[in-house]
Amino acid sequence: MKYKIAVIEEIHKDGLKLLENHPDFDYELITDISEANLINKLPNFDACTLRVSKLGEKILKHCKKLKVISRHGVGYDNVDLNYIKNNNISLLITATANAVAVAEHVLAMFLALSKSIINYDNEVRKGNFKNNAKNIQTYELFNKNVLIAGFGRIGKKLISRCLAFDANVYIYDPYVEEKIIKDLGGIKVDHIEEGLKIADYVSLHVPLTQETKNLLNYSVFKKMKKNSIIVNTARGGIINETDLEKALNENIIFGSALDVFSKEPIEINNPLLKNKKVILSPHSATFTDECTSRMSIETTKNIIDFFENKIDKSMIVKL
Ligand code: NAD
Repeated sequence: MKYKIAVIEEIHKDGLKLLENHPDFDYELITDISEANLINKLPNFDACTLRVSKLGEKILKHCKKLKVISRHGVGYDNVDLNYIKNNNISLLITATANAVAVAEHVLAMFLALSKSIINYDNEVRKGNFKNNAKNIQTYELFNKNVLIAGFGRIGKKLISRCLAFDANVYIYDPYVEEKIIKDLGGIKVDHIEEGLKIADYVSLHVPLTQETKNLLNYSVFKKMKKNSIIVNTARGGIINETDLEKALNENIIFGSALDVFSKEPIEINNPLLKNKKVILSPHSATFTDECTSRMSIETTKNIIDFFENKIDKSMIVKL
């Protein structure tokens, strides 16, 4: 008897190859992610992979054979955690696959904002090779203060990259011991305000929780340095977008880059779309070719390891 795996939404071919080459697994790709189709299809499967589609009780209550959901990513706000906990369905994440890609995205944004890459590009294309371009303000990361809020998988990949630019790195994460931070070259701050007051660059790597919702808001922005740059690749809602727009317009902060939004896709009338001090990307920090391959491999390998009783504990979500 082979395990039947539903691959919900396409994933990189490298992960599918693992299933194709394994004698104990069969898979079927499900591209129609409508609730009706998932209710119809999923009851036949022992496990599924999951990208962004929602798995709520309405679907899951039909899935009596389902033992495990393997998320292609680390967030799992699209799964009904209560239901799976009560029904003994395990949840796995790709814990090691994507941190580097997100950390590189942050660096790309730090540098693009500091060096005003998009503005320079626009000026050159408009024929202003020497005129306006001279007035564009730019900065260096060298010797600056970077605040990393959240020192988990991504925060730990980001610190070494910032230190390579000779920045001073401050860490705000009340759940991580000072020694771990110090050993990796960081300086612990006990309160986020302490870090924000001295930071030239801020990067968010905390989950979205009641505690972190609106963590960065207008009253916080007002306490920050005027040339500061804020990057959010964590989750929309951790920065209050209305307050951010106001702070940018009032020159309270220099610039911001966002990969995540309180509503995704970003709404067409969101004023941030017209703001030249912001760089936007479509929740694409992990979209590198290398990372999509790693995530796909980790997603299917986790299912195989789960059924072979050799799953790495760091991949299991504690429910
Ligand atoms: P992680 O769980 O490894 O690390 C999160 C860290 O945040 C932990 O060290 C935890 O102690 C800390 N933390 C929790 N609550 C906090 C609080 N109130 N204040 C300060 N620190 C707090 O997570 P990760 O894999 O590093 O991911 C970080 C974030 O990035 C998550 O929000 C995740 O959803 C998001 N993410 C986004 C993308 C993307 O495509 N843009 C990709 C991967 C992850």
